[in-house]
Amino acid sequence: MTPKQKQFLFLAMIKQVVYSEIELELNETRQTLSNWWGELKNERQEIDEIRSYWKMKCDKVEYEEFEMWFKSTPKYCHYCKVTQEQLNQLRDKGELYTKRNRGYILEIERKRPDEDYDKLDNLVFACYWCNNAKTDTFTEEEFMGIGQAIAKVWEDRLVKPKLSWADLKFSIQVSLKNRGLKDPAIRLRALDNLEIIISKNFMDVINDPSLLKLIEKNSFKSSLAPFKQNGILNGAEKSIVNEIYKIVLA
Ligand SMILES: [Zn+2]
Repeated sequence: MTPKQKQFLFLAMIKQVVYSEIELELNETRQTLSNWWGELKNERQEIDEIRSYWKMKCDKVEYEEFEMWFKSTPKYCHYCKVTQEQLNQLRDKGELYTKRNRGYILEIERKRPDEDYDKLDNLVFACYWCNNAKTDTFTEEEFMGIGQAIAKVWEDRLVKPKLSWADLKFSIQVSLKNRGLKDPAIRLRALDNLEIIISKNFMDVINDPSLLKLIEKNSFKSSLAPFKQNGILNGAEKSIVNEIYKIVLA
């Protein structure tokens, strides 16, 4: 990217200057600017990301200054060291449970919470969980120890294999057969019936059973019931749902 192109993106994206004025200021034609806009897709994505962090809390600082801070600050949680890449992996494995929208990206954290967000040397990245737990109660030093404990949880979740529906079903089948039930066939049938209902109506759960962590067990039972002919789950089916949850929440 040439200095002039950088200036163009800055004017268009940060200052939100209209094209007619940018043409005059940079002495370029509209066609050139449009070409640059197309060519600089990756650079635009990067600016989009930095701008969204800047807008969130830090737009009292000049954008260029914030951009320098952003590019030079390590992209991992200051306390538990989880990286954005690892947060993405945890999300894809269904190992990041948050009912709110927070948690999927690193947040900007103030080491000393009594200072404002315009003191850039006071800012670090932190994961939602560390940020949320540290509040203004713990100092940076105090929270470092807590961060180490959280790091251990991430580490364990990152190596844990992703739960598949096939594995989940298999372990329920094995456990039903080994439990000395009088008639395991009733529950095995219930498992097959539920699998049919879930694959027809809740395909997301088949693709990623860990989604059930976000759905309360009884409300999942209530959403399955209408797909039964009589509108209610029988005892065996309810107990299978309990088994499913036992594995998902383990
Ligand atoms: Zn953290």
